[in-house]
Amino acid sequence: MTDHLPRLANIAGRAHLLVGDGAIDVELRSDGRLPSEPREVIGCWDELRAWAAGAIGEPAPFDAALLGPAVPDPRQVFGIGLNYADHAAETGRPLPETPLVFTKFPSCIAPPSGQLTLPTTNVDWEVELVAVIGGGGRHIAEADALDHVAGFCVGQDFSERVVQWGGGPAPQFSLAKSYAGFGPVGPAIVDRLALPDDLDLAITCEVDGEVVQRSRTGRLIFGVPTLVAYLSSICELHPGDLIFTGTPDGVGASRTPPRFLQPGNVVVSTIEAVGELRTECVAPA
Ligand code: ZN
Repeated sequence: MTDHLPRLANIAGRAHLLVGDGAIDVELRSDGRLPSEPREVIGCWDELRAWAAGAIGEPAPFDAALLGPAVPDPRQVFGIGLNYADHAAETGRPLPETPLVFTKFPSCIAPPSGQLTLPTTNVDWEVELVAVIGGGGRHIAEADALDHVAGFCVGQDFSERVVQWGGGPAPQFSLAKSYAGFGPVGPAIVDRLALPDDLDLAITCEVDGEVVQRSRTGRLIFGVPTLVAYLSSICELHPGDLIFTGTPDGVGASRTPPRFLQPGNVVVSTIEAVGELRTECVAPA
């Protein structure tokens, strides 16, 4: 059964199911019953799931270089700060009593594999589990929250630490995390039913093959149902909205001395059963 649960990818702007090593174009193979645009497909996830369980034919080979962001144009991208106790501790800050929320402006969303032009010498890594909203709404009860999540992908919440914390009377999380390319998401949206109910998955970030972050997503302080309920109590959620659920310990800014990304570094962000992102850092032209 779980073999047929959707893994939805964006290939050259069109929604595809990944099956084995190949892909199936959703709109073409469904004879137009389902749309081609990834965000629209996410909005009819139950229909996608039902269709994917039937006879949808053989997958075709595809060029992985054509994989785009799992959601190329989310209406809202939420980020959650200090949502792992080990990360809160390494920053020297107390645990939050309610979720700490910022936005990554949607123009930062980037493909699962590619180059990141480093805007400064203060760019840090943050691997994160990203929840993709399927059915939106307001005032979603925590008990119903996972029914509003289509699935999950891997995200990198690249962060410019001087803009984030430096200068001014208050920090600038949203801008500091929204430079071009600062939000790779993918490689595909894995149906939530294909993942364990407790969402306890191994999560790692490597820089040039060195493991810099290693934890488990079961350690989130505020779990996904709590985040969906809390966010929807204030903001209406829409299909394709993304929730970056927070990063575990091991970020560069908390090291002695601090360590930031340099041209030539390759960042690999991995979540068990969800997938992997690969980002090559380059210097500005
Ligand atoms: Zn983050």
